[in-house]
Amino acid sequence: MKKAFFATAVLVGTTMLFPAGCLAAEKEIQTYKDTDFAMDTVVTETLYTTGDDINSKLTSVLTDVETNLLSWTNEKSQIYKVNAESGKDTEISDELSGYLERILKIAKDSDGAFDPTIGKLIRLWDIGGEDQRVPKKSEIQEVLKNSGYEKVSVDGKNIRMDEGCSLDLGAAGKGIGCDSILEYLKGQKEISAALMNLGGSSVMTYGSKPDGSSWNVAVTDPRAENEDDYLGVVALNGTEFLSTSGDYEKYFIEDGVRYHHIMDPSTGYPAKSGVTGVTVVCDTGLEADALSTACFVLGVEKGSELLKKYGANGLFVDEDHHVYLTEGMKERFSLLADSYSVEDITE
Ligand code: ADP
Ligand code: MG
Repeated sequence: MKKAFFATAVLVGTTMLFPAGCLAAEKEIQTYKDTDFAMDTVVTETLYTTGDDINSKLTSVLTDVETNLLSWTNEKSQIYKVNAESGKDTEISDELSGYLERILKIAKDSDGAFDPTIGKLIRLWDIGGEDQRVPKKSEIQEVLKNSGYEKVSVDGKNIRMDEGCSLDLGAAGKGIGCDSILEYLKGQKEISAALMNLGGSSVMTYGSKPDGSSWNVAVTDPRAENEDDYLGVVALNGTEFLSTSGDYEKYFIEDGVRYHHIMDPSTGYPAKSGVTGVTVVCDTGLEADALSTACFVLGVEKGSELLKKYGANGLFVDEDHHVYLTEGMKERFSLLADSYSVEDITE
């Protein structure tokens, strides 16, 4: 009763304030969906807006972040410049400086499980690339001499890195891309809601859908035979970010061993913490992305401790088909794959 009265009252009020012609001109929310390619991955975008379809603009926000800030191959990017000038002071933008401070904090808090300075190690293995191979132990030891997040210091617009050190922000890049999209959307008043999905591994939700339903994001079963076999669904409310890191995204198998793209910076080999995938939900893209990589390296117990520090939630999947959920993840996650079981995290 009360609700109906309120709705009528609002309607009467509006009619009194605006002539009928104005009311008819009020635009309805339209839904626009698009699939694109940016940041080396397939991007799917859904927009709810009373304005134009600006999906291509969103893709260009991602491409700009990649070309101007993060790329290690594009000479125009700031990271390229910092790497080329290792050993000297280099000037960077306030934006990159802010990201690097947050990244170095996660490196420290994870005890180096997440380390943005393992660029040379990543190139050496080249997992998913044309030259992927198992390097010799001596080669690994050689490149590890050049890594270590303590070799980097950021002071405002100034960055200094030990000579030979090489930054790779691949583990946080898509999250940074999502943060940039959020900033852009905040300035677009006609957009009431949006979903961005970068290759299934970084997802951003913004605002409320017209029907008020929550955003449901599917999480891949790390050992699925088909890509469309899902482990389960995580419900997000806008604005939240979800990030997944798994050993099934880029890998090759040699002599029965799976060599995947998430490295343990302390050994120089692909991380072996017993988990096959980690999904993190938190309120910023950079942190969601970097934390999911860190948690993959740390495993269930140490990983969930790290998440607590950031007020983030996570789900960890292990080799034995167990799914471990942090407290706040329990109400968000619905299991779909029946070969898995949900277990408690032992502290
Ligand atoms: P994806 O990029 O597939 O979504 P991640 O966010 O976990 O997955 O990032 C993996 C990428 O991050 C690797 O391809 C590599 O470039 C880089 N990387 C691998 N291991 C680490 C690590 N321990 N710390 C920081 N970066 C890493
Ligand atoms: Mg990551």
